[in-house]
Amino acid sequence: MTDVTSLADLSLLPVPEAGDATARTQAESGDAVGEQRNRAVEAILSAVQGGESILLVAHVDPDGDSLGSAIALGLALRTLGSRASVSFDSDPFVVPRSLTFLPGQDLLVPPALVPATPDLVVTLDAGSLGRLGALGRVATRARRMVVIDHHASNTRFGDINVIDADAASTSVMITDVIDALGVELDHDLAVAIYTGLVTDTGSFRYAATTPVVHQLAARLLATGIRHDLITRTVWDTHRFGYLRLLGELLGRARLEPEHDLVWTWCAFPDLTRAGLTLDEIEGVIDIVRATAEAEVAVVCKQGADEVWRVSVRSKGAVDVGAVCTELGGGGHRFAAGLTSSNPLEQTLDSLRDALVRAPRLPV
Ligand code: AMP
Ligand code: MN
Ligand code: MN
Repeated sequence: MTDVTSLADLSLLPVPEAGDATARTQAESGDAVGEQRNRAVEAILSAVQGGESILLVAHVDPDGDSLGSAIALGLALRTLGSRASVSFDSDPFVVPRSLTFLPGQDLLVPPALVPATPDLVVTLDAGSLGRLGALGRVATRARRMVVIDHHASNTRFGDINVIDADAASTSVMITDVIDALGVELDHDLAVAIYTGLVTDTGSFRYAATTPVVHQLAARLLATGIRHDLITRTVWDTHRFGYLRLLGELLGRARLEPEHDLVWTWCAFPDLTRAGLTLDEIEGVIDIVRATAEAEVAVVCKQGADEVWRVSVRSKGAVDVGAVCTELGGGGHRFAAGLTSSNPLEQTLDSLRDALVRAPRLPV
C-alpha cells in the first residue's frame, strides 16, 4: 500500500533543470506540436475563406473541456464569418446540466442534422475515433479531419493531428489556435475556455496546473468572467436527489488493500430512483479518490444501455491511462476511463488483473 506522502516529502521531489534531457525532449515535441498547429490553422482558415462546411465535434457525453473547446472554436469561427456547427453523440442529445450556462449554444446541431459529408471536421478532446460515437462515421467522410487533443493515448486518427499530452486541457490548445486565427479573446470565448481549464485541472489542483495555466487563467479573468459562478455551477451545484444517492454510493464503497484499490458503483436503477442523469454523478470519483489507503480509485456508472462507464484515477504510482487503454478505454496517466458491456464483477476483475500487472511508477 502507498504511504501517505507528507508535505515535507514534497520538497524533496526532483525539479528538472532547464537543458536536461527531459526539458529538451519536451521542447522538441513542443516544436512538433507547433508545426501541426500551424497546419491546422491553415486548414481552418482556408475552409473559412472558401465558405466550406465546418463541423466541430466533442467526444461522447461531453465534459466541460470537450464542449467548452468546441464552443470556443465555434464562436471564434463565427467572428471570422463561418457558420461552423458543434455536435456530439449523446442519448438524448442534451447539454449536461452543469454546462447549460455555456454561451454559443445556438451553434449546437444534433448528430442526425449535421452535414453528411462536411468539408472540414475538427475534433476536440477525443483520444480516438471511437470517442466520437456515431459522429465517427461523419468525421471519416469529411474531406479533411483535424484532431486537437491532449490525451497521451491519442491514436492520431485525423489528417492533421495536434496532440499535446503536456497541455492541461484541450481548451489551452484551442486558445493558441484562436490566437493564431487572429480572433480577440472576448467574454464569451473566455467563459468557454475557462470552463475547460477548470474542469480538467480539477480547479487548478492537478499536477498539470503549470505557470502557463495560471497565466491563461489571469488572461481569461481579465475579460470580466464570473469565474466564481462558473466553478460553482461546474463543481458545486447538485439537485437534492444527489445528496441521497451520494450517501448510498459512498456507503457501499469497497476498500481492497490487496489491490491498493477503492471502488464503488452506481447501477442504472440507482440513478433513475434518484431521478438523476449520468452526467450528474461525474464528481463522485473525486470524493472516492480522496481515500488515503488506496492508490487507485474506481467508480462504475451504468447507463440506460446497461453499459458500464468506468472512471479510474491514480495518485501517481500507476499509469491508469495505460491500464485503461489496454482494456479498450483510454485517458491520461492519472485520470482515465473505459466502457464495458460485461457484468460489473467481470468488469472489475479485468481491471484488478490489469492493475496487478501494471508497473509501479516512481512517485
Ligand atoms: P472520466 O472518468 O469520464 O472523467 O474520464 C477520465 C479521462 O479518461 C478523460 O480524459 C476521458 O476522456 C478518458 N476516458 C473516459 N472514458 C473513456 C473511454 N471509454 N475511452 C477512452 N477514454 C476515456
Ligand atoms: Mn474530456
Ligand atoms: Mn480534456
